[in-house]
Amino acid sequence: MNWIEFAWAMMAAASLTLGLIHLLVWFKERSRYAHLAFFVLASAVAAFSAFELSVMRASSPVAYATAVRWAHVPLAVVVLSIIGFVHFYFDAGRLWLAYAAAGFRLLALVLNFLTGANLNFLEVTALGQSTLWGGAVAAFPIGIPNPWQVVAQIGNLLLVAFVVDASITLWRRGEPVARRRAALVGGSLVLCIVVVGSLAAMIVTGTVKAPTILTPGFLVVVLAMGYELSWDVIVAAQLAAKLQMSEVSLRASEEKFRAVVESVPSAILLVDGNGKVVLSNAQAHVLFGHTGDELIGLMVDELVPARLRSSHESYRKSYALDARARAMASTREVYALNRSGTEAPVEVALRPIWTAGAMYVLVSLVDLTERRQMERSAVHQRDQIAHLSRVAMLAELSGSLAHELNQPLTASLSNAQTAQYHLAQHPTQPEKVSKLLAEIVKNNRRAGAVIQRLRSLLKKEEAQHHALNVNDVIRDALRLLHSDLLSRQVTMDLDLAEALPQVDGDRVQLQQVLLNLVINAREAMDDRKENRRIVVCSRLTERGGVEISVADDGDGVPPQDLERIFEAFVTTKSHGMGLGLAICQSIAEAHGGRLVATNNAGGGATFRFELPVRTAPESNA
Ligand code: ADP
Repeated sequence: MNWIEFAWAMMAAASLTLGLIHLLVWFKERSRYAHLAFFVLASAVAAFSAFELSVMRASSPVAYATAVRWAHVPLAVVVLSIIGFVHFYFDAGRLWLAYAAAGFRLLALVLNFLTGANLNFLEVTALGQSTLWGGAVAAFPIGIPNPWQVVAQIGNLLLVAFVVDASITLWRRGEPVARRRAALVGGSLVLCIVVVGSLAAMIVTGTVKAPTILTPGFLVVVLAMGYELSWDVIVAAQLAAKLQMSEVSLRASEEKFRAVVESVPSAILLVDGNGKVVLSNAQAHVLFGHTGDELIGLMVDELVPARLRSSHESYRKSYALDARARAMASTREVYALNRSGTEAPVEVALRPIWTAGAMYVLVSLVDLTERRQMERSAVHQRDQIAHLSRVAMLAELSGSLAHELNQPLTASLSNAQTAQYHLAQHPTQPEKVSKLLAEIVKNNRRAGAVIQRLRSLLKKEEAQHHALNVNDVIRDALRLLHSDLLSRQVTMDLDLAEALPQVDGDRVQLQQVLLNLVINAREAMDDRKENRRIVVCSRLTERGGVEISVADDGDGVPPQDLERIFEAFVTTKSHGMGLGLAICQSIAEAHGGRLVATNNAGGGATFRFELPVRTAPESNA
């Protein structure tokens, strides 16, 4: 065996091995037609190398002509498989060019068997022998060229045009991989076809007196294609490995996400753009009384009470148009409907989430049932404490209240006695008696009003908010202190702004605050011999609220105690409980205000609080 036989056998083996590898790839994934085309090409190149060897070793012109004729069969398969490979692998190239190139090659194959000695020669007249490197000898032809071989040459030109066109299209896609593929595979193919075609033409025309050596050129193409294809297989394998890894990490992150969603103390729903629930946690199952499977796919509107459903639906749709994170309960009363039919007040926060181009809304709900119950019992307790404190305050005032009541009663008694006397003395003059009787009625009404005020202050009932005229509330409350202040020589000045807007509040509790502040003011001036003056003022503030203030001429509050005096059990009085201001503060806060103490520039202290103006007008003050 000389080196040519060895080399051609090796090239055939290499080509066939590469082809078989890609046949296996194609078996694994049948849609990869490029691998099948490559296998056919590599097998055809291997077969061609065997024919080429027999052409080189031909001993007579006839044997040479026959070997060339049969070598055209694998050559045609090589051309057809190149067309198939480029078409499938590049996914480009004009189809008419592909069909034309294939058609001309098939026609050339037919002509190869029908005309002359083969497609290349009408007749091989003689054989020359050329000695190659290493002393190996190979035959070369001398004969009359077959004019029909022009068909094969046109086919070659069409093949070059098809490959160039497909490579340009691939290159234009711009990705680096596509460009490398176009340059390496397309370039080597064009080079091979041009070199092999020209060499064959030169040998046939006798321009070059050398044996036909085409297999190495084909092998270059097979290696270039094989390299690219194998690279693809490796990349695909790497991608598969990465995919597997990312699947594992995806599962892990899904588990983490699930654990987070489940550990959140609030109920969580994930709702898609159509309002359907796509995810829920255990807290949501408890809140709505549905299992996870029941919740999935359910319209979220079904989870609110029927009376709120249509407004909820329109809210949901408008939210989708302006989706951003926001709390829902801050502006609306929201209730969650349990499967059992019960309703729970909830605080709802919404957050839009965009994944894969679709919008979802993450809904987190906090059940407010317990909080609302606690708030209710706190209000109840506050009302009770306020009531106790009112009773205690009125008990303290009992002396002056009795006086307040006594005054009209005494006046009535004296008027009645005078009337009796007058009737006895002047029975014919009823005018004077009638005047006295009118006085009695007036005094009785005064006493009745005092009792009425006392009754309402002593009544134990929960706070009820109404539209109130602040000035009426002030006047009404201070009437009860009239006698008390008079007996202590305290002057009471009212500085009430006219036409104040109504406020929203509980009349009794606001009166209680006023009484408390005025009594404190009076007590603060107990040590003063003269100039005992209290000013009760009402005004509209810059912020649009109504402010009530009580100012005195006492010693004021030590600056460090200005805040502390509102705490419970802080007192400087021997008989004091230190609860009055704490209760007043809680009442002011329940009315949306805050009680503040300041010291006056000229001495004494002022206590003030502001009430927000009622928004909904109401006629019955
Ligand atoms: P009590 O009247 O039982 O002491 P309060 O809560 O009403 O409880 O008052 C707490 C303290 O605040 C009083 O002991 C007093 O020291 C101070 N204080 C309240 N009002 C005034 C005031 N108008 N001038 C000065 N100090 C005051």
